[in-house]
This record gives sequence, structure tokens and C-alpha cells, in this order.
Amino acid sequence: MTTATQTDFEPVIGLEVHVQLKTRSKMFCRCEVRFGAPANSLTCPVCLGLPGALPTVNRQAIEHGIRIGLALNCQIAHRVKFDRKNYFYPDLPKGYQVSQYDEPLCFDGELQMPIMDASGNPKICRITRAHLEEDAGKSIHMGHSTLVDLNRAGTPLVEIVGGPDLRSPEEAYVYLTTLKRNLSYLGVSDLSMEKGSLRCDANVSVRPRGQEKFGVRSEIKNLNSFRAVRAALEFEIRRHVSVVEGGGKLTQETRLWDEEKLETRSLRSKEEATDYRFFPEPDLTTFDVPRDWVQRVQATLPEMPEKRLLRFLHDFKLNRADAEFLVGDKELADWYEAVLKLYDEPRKVAAWVVVEVNRELQERHLEISQLPVTPERLVELIKLLDAGKLNNITAKEVFKAMAETGEGAMATAKRLGRLIEQDEGEVDRAIEDVITEFKDKAVADYLRGETKVLGFLVGQAMRKLKGKANPKDLGQKLEAALKQKQEPGAQATG
Ligand code: ADP
Ligand code: MG
Ligand code: ZN
Repeated sequence: MTTATQTDFEPVIGLEVHVQLKTRSKMFCRCEVRFGAPANSLTCPVCLGLPGALPTVNRQAIEHGIRIGLALNCQIAHRVKFDRKNYFYPDLPKGYQVSQYDEPLCFDGELQMPIMDASGNPKICRITRAHLEEDAGKSIHMGHSTLVDLNRAGTPLVEIVGGPDLRSPEEAYVYLTTLKRNLSYLGVSDLSMEKGSLRCDANVSVRPRGQEKFGVRSEIKNLNSFRAVRAALEFEIRRHVSVVEGGGKLTQETRLWDEEKLETRSLRSKEEATDYRFFPEPDLTTFDVPRDWVQRVQATLPEMPEKRLLRFLHDFKLNRADAEFLVGDKELADWYEAVLKLYDEPRKVAAWVVVEVNRELQERHLEISQLPVTPERLVELIKLLDAGKLNNITAKEVFKAMAETGEGAMATAKRLGRLIEQDEGEVDRAIEDVITEFKDKAVADYLRGETKVLGFLVGQAMRKLKGKANPKDLGQKLEAALKQKQEPGAQATG
């Protein structure tokens, strides 16, 4: 707790995010990249680190790296150079990891976040660098023994190093969701924290507010979700503040997040670059990244979410929540725009997608690509509603059924008996029936001037019509019929 007498501390946070690239083969060999295969079945002399085996570079991995760099507004290096990062670990059979040290493929970028900074501008976090490296294998601890699975060894990764620009655990959370959203537009990774294709280490320090110099930082590992990142940072900030306030000294260290105990604990003091004895990878030559390659990749980038959001806000006049929701999922936003191509009512369509379509996706755990309703069929449904052949309630009911069967709107509405036929006689009869049925109660009240009972009477008539009426038309007709009863003499015949 900070009180007025104590120093107010400001957290400083910088995140390192590892993204596993979606390539067919590994970074330096032809082994397949696949999650969940039998242990050590996807290995060869190169990724096992057998003596004499020589690596070759996966071109697709470099291109994915360029794609990520461009999407994060980075400069792209003019050549690719790999370095060896030496350390000893059971799941690192070569005794080194091939990475990039002094010449990262991408550098000097930035990520714009959908929150405001202190001066009211969109918050920007610098992207210091994004470099290529190979993944290590996995150590599996079972009882007293440790087993090693090298299927993952040599899988291409991009490490995205964010600047120390984040000032709260919440900002770190927004950074991660925004970064993930942007990466999802590129199709370069599964981005699954569960499968480990997206991993994050969080660096954090605190400083007295107003002080320029950064405090001593700790790096937190073993973060399995964005929520864990936020929780671990909150814990660690409190710990830093209490150490500093207690007159203690922090040391730069690597700490592990314990998801059960909700606390961090020290793993080791932080390694320095010199501990890794980096040197240029002698088995790979450097090679050029021609500018026309970069331009070709640039030309294939989709419209990125920041721009798309502005377009949805300005051109389509959507509210911010709906626009952000749609833009957050590229496939869903594409689907939404496919509907607009057929039916140019952005706000009306957005309401359908954000509410009804989304509900189906949530309830049935589907991606939009798996929804049986096509954009054409949603438009068919909206047009039935426009034409008064369905009302708001029956249209939603029909949509739900369409989502189950994939049938068209007209066919479904007919099958469910929800299509409003132009049988005026049926409507008139329903009105007469309701007036007769409630003549001593609601109708009498209405005639005494309690006009608010009209809604009840419309509801009753709608029930008799099994929802097959336009509520507005029905209301008008019912009102007209009631007005007639009000005329002197009319009551005598009733
Ligand atoms: P290293 O190479 O030792 O990991 P870097 O300088 O590359 O160190 O920084 C790694 C990450 O730590 C970056 O995301 C950076 O923003 C963050 N960082 C660096 N210094 C601090 C600090 N004092 N407090 C919080 N985060 C920091
Ligand atoms: Mg680092
Ligand atoms: Zn291999």
C-alpha cells in the first residue's frame, strides 16, 4: 500500500515474446514441424546435433520473419547473419542455439495499442528488435527422471523484444493482446500459448515516479497465459516496492511464476551476454536480403488492424466496441465485409454479426469458417425481415435453425412455419378474437384511457398468429379496431 508519506513507484515493463513460425519443415533441416507427434519421431542428424551434420536455412522462415517485421513497422536488415548462443541444457543437444545476436533481421519498429497515453495519443510501445532463432527441445519431468523430446528442437522462432515502454500490468496485457491480434493477421503462426507456439517472458522494474533512471529488473518466465503475465507482474511490482521500501537491495535475476501459489521465485541470477559466448555461426554463411524481396512481402501484407479499425469507425460508422470486436478476429471481419458486399448496411449487419453470429460461434465453439451460414444466406434472412416476412424475434429463431442446418433463410422460415403470409383475414380474426377474449379486462381498460395495455393486447394477438406478423402493423391495426369500439354505439353491438 502506498500512502501519502511514502514514495510513489512507477513500474517499467518490457516484454519478450517468442512466436513459433508455421513452416512445413524446421529452421535448418527437413524435419517436419508438428505438435503432438510421438516423442523424438521428428528428428534427424542436424536437429539432433550429431557431429558433422550441416544446417541449411529455411527460406520460408526468413520470409515469415520479414512479414512480422514489416507488420511491426520495423526496418529489415540487408543481410541475414546467424550467431551461436552457447549454453548447456539437456534439451539443447548441440550445446548451443542458433540465434541472431548483433544483426537482428528486424529492428526499430513499434506497436500502436488501442489505449491512450498520458497526453491523449494512442499508446506506442517500441519494438526494439525481432530476430530469428531455433527452438530447443522439451524436457519432460516424470517422477525422478527427466526425459527429453527433441521434436521441437530446431523449430523456427521469431523473438520479438519490446521496448521498456509499458507502465502497468494492464498495459502489458493490452500489448500482448494487440500483438497477438496483429500477428493473427499474418498467418505465420498458430499463436497458441497452450501449445507453446506463443510464449512470453516479462521484464519489470520499479522507480520512484519522476526518476528517469530505471530500477533493477527481474525477468519472469513460465508464464502460460496473458492473465498469468498480468498477475505475475502485479505480484513482482509489489515485491520490488516492498524490497526497496524496506531498505533492501534488488538483484537482477530470472524468476519463475508459480501458477498455483501465485508468486514468483528466484531461478537464477540473470545471465549476461558474455555468459553465452556469442560468435558467428560458422556453418552458415551470411546472405543478402534483396529489397525487392522485402517489397514483395510488403505487397502481400493484409490491411492491418489499426487501419481496419479506423475504416470500420469512419466509413461504416460502427461504435468502437463493435468495431474492435470485429477487427479483433480477421476471419470474422472478412466475413462481415463479405456480407456488406451483398448488403450495404454496415451498422445493421454489424449488429447481426456481433450478437447473433457471435452467439452461435461461442455456444458451438466454432470459428467463423465453420459456421454453416454463408454471407449470402444471412443477407437472404435480413431481406426477409426487411420485407416484413419475419419479425425481429422470428428472424433470430430462423437464424439459429439456419446455423444448425446450413439451409437457406426462406426454406428454414417455411419449415418452421414462421413466414408471415399476407393473409389479412387471419390477422383481422386474431384481433377480433383478442378483443372479445379481453373485453372485460384489458380492452375495457384501454377504452377507459389506459392506452399502455395496447402492448399486452398486441402480444396476445401475436401469440395467436404464432409470431407471424409485423408487430408495428399489428399494433396499428389493433389500435384502429379498438378506436372503432370507442365510437358511441359501437359498444352496443360488441
Ligand atoms: P537481455 O538481452 O539481457 O534480455 P534486453 O536489453 O534485450 O536484455 O532487454 C530485454 C527486455 O527487458 C526488453 O523487453 C526490455 O524492454 C526489457 N527491459 C530492459 N531493461 C528493463 C528495466 N530496467 N525494467 C524493465 N524492463 C526492462
Ligand atoms: Mg533477452
Ligand atoms: Zn531435423
